[in-house]
Amino acid sequence: MQRVGEVMNRQEIRKMLKTVLKEDQISEKESMKKHTSFRIGGDADFLVLPSSIAELQQLMRMLNEKQIPFFVMGNGTNLLVRDKGIRSVVIKLARNISNYGIRGTDIFAEAGLSLSALSRIILEEELTGFEFASGIPGTVGGAMVMNAGAYGGEMKDIVKSVLVMDEKGLIFEMKGEDMEFGYRTSILSKQRLLVLGATFSLEKGNRQEIQEKMDDYALRRNTKQPIQEASAGSTFKRPEGYFAGKLIEDSGLRGVSHRGAQVSQLHCGFVINKGDATCEDVLELINMIKKTVYDKFQVSLEEEVRLVGEE
Ligand SMILES: Cc1cc2nc3c(=O)[nH]c(=O)nc-3n(C[C@H](O)[C@H](O)[C@H](O)COP(=O)(O)OP(=O)(O)OC[C@H]3O[C@@H](n4cnc5c(N)ncnc54)[C@H](O)[C@@H]3O)c2cc1C
Repeated sequence: MQRVGEVMNRQEIRKMLKTVLKEDQISEKESMKKHTSFRIGGDADFLVLPSSIAELQQLMRMLNEKQIPFFVMGNGTNLLVRDKGIRSVVIKLARNISNYGIRGTDIFAEAGLSLSALSRIILEEELTGFEFASGIPGTVGGAMVMNAGAYGGEMKDIVKSVLVMDEKGLIFEMKGEDMEFGYRTSILSKQRLLVLGATFSLEKGNRQEIQEKMDDYALRRNTKQPIQEASAGSTFKRPEGYFAGKLIEDSGLRGVSHRGAQVSQLHCGFVINKGDATCEDVLELINMIKKTVYDKFQVSLEEEVRLVGEE
């Protein structure tokens, strides 16, 4: 991928960004610590917050025409950003692009709407099927890329279609069955498309039952996961036939620290940032965990967190 400095200097890029966005939508040299749940990462050259799909389309056309590199993110809850930061324009789609609309038992939500906010809207509509996602801290966009899931449910089960935009600003819809949803992956992991929104197909339900399910999942999450700590959720994917957390625990690694990074005491599947961890600390701890687990159980762990930024 090209880097910002290779195409234009920063001043020129700022000037170009200002042809599409207002000053307060553009941050320069923005610390990614502020935008990731891990609270780790160097500066992004630029971080921008488009306010509508139309504006995002203009932005994409401009970036494409000027060959300016970009990276799209949601809530940053599955990202590990390198210490040198990101040499591109980071496009953050979170609360800035978060409208929704309901039609019968279908609900369309824009990419930036958080799954928790969406689950509250769905509860008010007395629709069922989305409860599993209510405690996942990401956005609709991130959930499409990751096929986010929990407690036996995943996006694959409820996504009817996904509205996407390509690098040239062309908007089109993809059917749920064409999304190649797999375990914590989708077609969006290999195709460079921006998620603009998704339509979920749900069923009419009973408000109290929906609420009870959400409460049950929240209780399980609050007691079993280190949600008060800085992390990016489960560090590793679940290896077939095993649980990553159990393998790590049985390898004697509960609570093991490496500088600012630590295997959570509460849930060994989470690497947490104790406060001042660098990306390097986390990567070294991850490698140590992988090696220890492999040596003991001959099982290869694969990262679920997405590593981005300049090496
Ligand atoms: C405490 C905690 C608990 C968690 N529990 C769960 C869980 O139970 N189940 C689960 O599946 N995950 C869980 N996660 C991980 C994370 O919340 C999910 O992977 C979520 O789907 C990521 O969404 P996001 O908006 O934060 O995406 P980000 O982390 O910002 O991005 C993730 C990936 O999606 C891409 N992306 C994001 N938005 C867009 C978009 N609009 N268009 C194109 N690409 C985009 C990014 O480029 C990146 O590759 C947890 C994380 C934490 C911190």
